[in-house]
Amino acid sequence: MASDCIFCKIVAGELPSFKVYEDAETLAFLDIRPVNPGHTLVVPKNHSVNIFDVPEKDWTAVTTVVHRLARGIEKAVAADGININMNNREHAGQIVDHVHVHIIPRFKGDGFKLWHQTPYKDGEAVKVQEKIKTQLL
Ligand code: AMP
Ligand code: ZN
Repeated sequence: MASDCIFCKIVAGELPSFKVYEDAETLAFLDIRPVNPGHTLVVPKNHSVNIFDVPEKDWTAVTTVVHRLARGIEKAVAADGININMNNREHAGQIVDHVHVHIIPRFKGDGFKLWHQTPYKDGEAVKVQEKIKTQLL
């Protein structure tokens, strides 16, 4: 447990939360400022900051729970779809430095946009592809 981490405190029961699911490795609770009602955060009980330091075992536990909860949350709030999202590091929008995956119910016409997308320039995609493949060697 990281002593200054609010999600560790929620896991430890030192801060309140609206829990929707719990097992030995994970906890899922309602986001306190939801995009839409039912917006849920799934966290590992062990403290890790983000995708870059979370052990595979904890990450697998989180993603298994996300997979399990998505359908139930969608049905519970009669949503028309679900976004699964994770922010890693400050400039990707991470505010709380304890691994968490957002399950966000979406509704027809709710008006929320995801990302601005643009096509690659000529020859750019193959260069990016090669850079990524080199890093993965
Ligand atoms: P992120 O930007 O991915 O780090 O998201 C952090 C999320 O945690 C935000 O959506 C907050 O609304 C949510 N949050 C912060 N504090 C609490 C809390 N005490 N209980 C539930 N959700 C929280
Ligand atoms: Zn923590």
